[in-house]
Amino acid sequence: MDLKLENITPEEEAELKRNVFLTTLDQIKAWARSNSMWPLTFGLACCAIEMMGTGASHYDLDRYGSGVFRPSPRQADVMIVAGTVTKKMAPVLRRLYDQMPDPKWVIAMGVCATAGGPYVKSYSVVKGVDQIVPVDVYIPGCPPNPAALIYGINKLQEKIRYEAKTGKRVTNR
Ligand code: SF4
Repeated sequence: MDLKLENITPEEEAELKRNVFLTTLDQIKAWARSNSMWPLTFGLACCAIEMMGTGASHYDLDRYGSGVFRPSPRQADVMIVAGTVTKKMAPVLRRLYDQMPDPKWVIAMGVCATAGGPYVKSYSVVKGVDQIVPVDVYIPGCPPNPAALIYGINKLQEKIRYEAKTGKRVTNR
């Protein structure tokens, strides 16, 4: 945001621009939220091993404020669906999503969560978790490695900040 000032010297103006910035409360909230997303512990299959590795010390998900995996949906605001979702599990996944407080986001990690993956022809597997809950970020791979999950989390952070800045909802539907 540009600051228009009168009756001050150019030096004072330069000093002000170095030390003062203007923003909106929504943007500050989005900045804080995007740097403290708490994932719901939701490892379902092999992708969960990579998710756990992402949270461990080598990749250190805490750098992005997302290392606090919560066992309760009431304390989580991002669901990382890491693995194969069966049709029997689908209603439970939806119930957990509904129990998460707003604002909340979903990351589909791996091709199973994204589109059914190697089990796409199975009668018992959901062909993409977006049939049950709205997905914000899709991460391809079987499994995606921790760097890919971190990239997906970075994309979600960008999305949260962009929505606050523009007032536009970015949706995949
Ligand atoms: S995408 Fe691959 S690694 Fe991930 S849960 Fe499915 S089969 Fe396992």
